[in-house]
Amino acid sequence: MRLILMGPPGAGKGTQARVIAEYFGVPAISTGDIFRANVSQGTPLGKKAQEYMDAGEYVPDEVTNLMVRARIDEPDAEPGFLLDGYPRTLAQVEELDGMIRHTGHELDAVVVLTVDPNEIVERLLNRAQTDGRTDDTEDVIRRRQEVYGEQTEPLIGVYRGRGIVHEIDGMGEVDDVTKRIFDALDVVSQS
Ligand code: ADP
Repeated sequence: MRLILMGPPGAGKGTQARVIAEYFGVPAISTGDIFRANVSQGTPLGKKAQEYMDAGEYVPDEVTNLMVRARIDEPDAEPGFLLDGYPRTLAQVEELDGMIRHTGHELDAVVVLTVDPNEIVERLLNRAQTDGRTDDTEDVIRRRQEVYGEQTEPLIGVYRGRGIVHEIDGMGEVDDVTKRIFDALDVVSQS
């Protein structure tokens, strides 16, 4: 199973990614989480990524692509993976196509979570208080939403053209959203 989870900042991708990935027995790979881990460990990759993340900008494609390629090459990703936060640019779509083609597999589905951008700002400001993410300030949240609209939203059209997009209402209770995703992916959720 090779899945992509897309949606604007704060759509709840991370929460849903863990549940879906567990169901399919594949790793949930979150580029945001990998970057944050590198920042907190002070690695060279973290040093490269931090200023972009704090400004709400995307980390350059070359950096992100290399990191994802290395992660997908790990043995646990051989049966498949769920990507959360990648691809986010057209260049990353092409790169991912190459990586998947190389393994002789195909992308199975792209799940897009749709949300109300204004409600999302609230959610993210709340998260700032509990998780202490440095990019969850109002200005940076708005910038992340803008960058998403400019650079990432157009990717939905690309994947729609391939007939693999499932658009899911991401508002409401976490469990309800999960159920919608499983219904769309045609599986019976274990409740
Ligand atoms: P969000 O809640 O904004 O979707 P993430 O945790 O997925 O946040 O990502 C946090 C930050 O990490 C992004 O704002 C960006 O700077 C960087 N990042 C994550 N994934 C990518 C990517 N695929 N390409 C470039 N930058 C990325």
